[in-house]
Formats: sequence, structure tokens, C-alpha cells
Amino acid sequence: MPKTLGKIRPHLTQDEQLLFELSSPGKKGYQLPALDVPEVDPASALGSENVRAAIEHFPEVSEVEVIRHFTRLSTWNYGIDLGLFPLGSCTMKYNPRINEAVARTEGLAWAHPYQPEALSQGAMEVVAILEQYLGEIFGMDAVTLQPAAGAHGEYTGIMLVRAYLEAQGNPRKKVLVPDSAHGTNPATAFMAGYDVQTLKSNDSGMVDPAVLAAAVNEDVAALMVTNPNTVGVFEENIVQIAGIMHEKGAQVYMDGANLNALVGIARPGDFGVDVLHSNLHKTFSTPHGGGGPGAGAVGVRSHLEPFLPTPRLRRDGELWAWDYDRPQSIGRVRAFYGNFGVLVRALAYILAHGGEGLRNATIDALLNANYIRARLEEHYQIAYNARSMHECVFSDVRQEKQGVRTGDIAKRLIDYGFHPYTVSFPLIVHGALMIEPTETEPKAELDAFCDALIAIAREIEADPETVKKAPHMTRTSRVDEVAAARKPKVRWTPQA
Ligand SMILES: *Cc1c(COP(=O)(O)O)cnc(C)c1O
Repeated sequence: MPKTLGKIRPHLTQDEQLLFELSSPGKKGYQLPALDVPEVDPASALGSENVRAAIEHFPEVSEVEVIRHFTRLSTWNYGIDLGLFPLGSCTMKYNPRINEAVARTEGLAWAHPYQPEALSQGAMEVVAILEQYLGEIFGMDAVTLQPAAGAHGEYTGIMLVRAYLEAQGNPRKKVLVPDSAHGTNPATAFMAGYDVQTLKSNDSGMVDPAVLAAAVNEDVAALMVTNPNTVGVFEENIVQIAGIMHEKGAQVYMDGANLNALVGIARPGDFGVDVLHSNLHKTFSTPHGGGGPGAGAVGVRSHLEPFLPTPRLRRDGELWAWDYDRPQSIGRVRAFYGNFGVLVRALAYILAHGGEGLRNATIDALLNANYIRARLEEHYQIAYNARSMHECVFSDVRQEKQGVRTGDIAKRLIDYGFHPYTVSFPLIVHGALMIEPTETEPKAELDAFCDALIAIAREIEADPETVKKAPHMTRTSRVDEVAAARKPKVRWTPQA
């Protein structure tokens, strides 16, 4: 593929020059009125230490050049509004605009957390209804919306387990985490003061009940299990697994960050989970990425309810009131009541879909993932033979024979106009390609994505070097990713 069209520079390009390179002497992008006060020497007026010397290579460009430069750069932003965002374990789905309209409703958008309760009844009711609906979706007895992200929800959940066990006399020492888990799980357990013991998955990528039974004893506080797990497979022994934990007085924590394989079909509370978190910014359609605000709602069975963060909502006659008098609570995990705007979006999404709509979204998520799997299975090695849920995970073992790895394939996808999938995670899959299309993608988009990956698989057979050197259509190609993160070079110097 040509990177440029000879000397012609197209208007839409991924090879935008730096502003410095666009510079030509004497151009400027401002017009100042004539001076109407006496001119003074800046150094004598401000002190020479406060006057900057001329900046070397300072770009001289006109207004229209500046505007066009930044507008062109803005088109490099790949987002869910532009096309499929296939990152696995991220649930990058399209966020219906109605959520945004609702979140901007004046009374909700301008609600202040210090507003008196009597003037906050609508906002408090949003929290109350969302807690109730999520409780129903999770199959749990109570929900807190305070945690600000998934990992924060995990931390809250494990602190609840600790408080519950402590109230019984012994917080215990260890948390079991399968080797397929998201990295935040062991980090959470460690932060909550537990030792982490890794459980090896079986040949189907699942928790092995025999391995689990051998690991559980009176020192174990909880198992942190993801279901469907990160290889996109449903833990079919989950009821037995929960039984093994409960028999030893230990708790089952479920990482439900991505719940869109379950909503409306199966409820974690019904298959033995004691506590879970779910990312409203993944499953319940709040925009995410880039570290923006999120919400890690945590659901619990009734025995953990007394320990939930304060304050809790309670009914006081006709009104909602915040209840701070909860002696067993782990306390606050965040200022105020959670990321309220995110909660409004999630409730709008749930109400717009209704029960039947949410269930259909789940079915579409599974269908889309399995469609991609069926189209690609001939070209890429599926990691596990169990049926895929909302995502499918391939391995690069076939492409590796040509010296091409998952990271190379991901880079080549950029040339084909797609955001890459999740690369090299989960770690238990050799050279993982983890793909989650989500329910919001039309068939034509799924086909375009599969066509691109199939074309790349063929290229690897015929010409692996092209793939190994990709991307070719972007301004920079292969960078030293570690050095770029640790020692960024942000000063421009002209090329000789
Ligand atoms: C995204 C994710 C998390 C972490 O959520 P954050 O909001 O990024 O903290 C945890 N577990 C799984 C499985 C996830 O996909």
C-alpha cells in the first residue's frame, strides 16, 4: 500500500506534518492592535530572569494552517463512533446518544452533592432505582454505586469480604485467583491485605474443581472468579465451585466487569456468587477509555449488606434520606455518592432497553462474537474449544511459523482502518488475539473486520515481511514502546 500519493498530500491523511515542519518565516496567526502606550524594554520592566529568550524553531504559521493542522490531527482519533473497537475484555460498545441527553438534563447535571436532601430527591431516586434494577440483574440483595471504577469495585468487594470474615472472628489470609484473571484481581487482593494464590486453569481454560478443592482451607478468604472468564468461556462448574468455597466458609467474588454475556439470561446470585462488581462504563454503555469517569457497582448477598460503604439510602416517610448510622460499614470508598453522571447514563440505558431489550442485547453480543469466531476459525487457531460467550480468543501459533506474532497482526489491522484487538492477554493463551465485537455492531462491520483479518492471514502466507513492518499508512510505524513511555522525547529538532 502506498503511504503517500507521490507529491500530492491528500486532505485526510495519517501522515500529518508537525507544526514545526509547516513553519515558514514571517507567517503569523494573530493581529494585534497598534500600541497605545509607551513601549518599554521587557527585561527592565519585568526583570531579565522573567523574560524568555527567543524560542528556537518556534513555528511560524498562519491561522488557517493552525486550524487545519489540528483538525486533521483530530481525525486520527479512532473511536467507537467511527468503527468497530474490538478490544477484548473492554466491552467498547456504541453508547446511545439518548443517555447523553438524559445525563445533561438540567436538574441532574447541576445537582450539587451539598444540596440539602429535600432538594435532591430526584437524584437520590435515580440512585435508588438503579440500585434496585442492578440488584435484579445481578440476582443480589443489595448494591452500592459508590466505587468509581472496576478495580475500585473489586477493592470494595474484597474489603466487604474481609469485614464480614473479621466480624466472624478471623479475616483469613489468602485469596485464590485463577491464572486467566484480569491483572486487577491479584492487585486488589494484595491491596486488601491478602496473599494471592494462583490457580492453574484446566485444558478448557476453566477453573478445575479438583485443583480448587485442594487449594481451599480455613486460611482462604475468597476466590476471585471471572465468569464468563477472560478466554470468553463460561465457567460451567460454577455452582460446584461455589459449593466448594462455601463448605470451607470462604466467599465467592465474581469479576463481572463485562456482564454482557449474562444480563437477562443468568444471574450471578443464582449460581452461588456472594459479591460481584460490574463496570457500568462497559456493560451499561457509558463511554469509556482514557481513564474517564466510570462506576464499578458492587452487588452483595444479604450477609454482606451491613458492611456496605456509607451512606446508604433509606426511606424516611415520603422522602429519601442518607443513612450514615451503619456501625459495621467499611466506611466511605469515595467522596459523596459515586460518579453520578455515569449512574444516570446507566439508568437511561436500562430503561430505554427494558428487560426484553437487555436480554436481546446479550443474545446479540454472543451471536456477534460467535460469528467472528466462525469466520476466522479457519485462518486463526481458536484458543479453547469450549463455546465462546461475548468474546473469542485466538492464538497466533499458525502465524508464528512465518515469524509473525499477534502484535504484528494488530499493527497491520491499523493499515486496514481498524483499531487493534487486545494483544497478548490473557497470558495463559500463547500469543493471544482477544476480540470482543459487542452487540452494537452491524453484520457489515463484522464482515469488514473479518475480511481484514483474513486478508492479513493470507498476506502472512505470501509476504510475512509486510506484516512484520506494519503499519505502513501512519506517520510513525514501529516505535520502541518501552522507551516511548519511559523516556518520551518531546523536543523537536529539524532534520538535516
Ligand atoms: C476492565 C476490567 C476490570 C477493571 O475495570 P476498570 O474500570 O478499568 O478499573 C477488571 N476486570 C475485568 C475483567 C475487566 O475487563
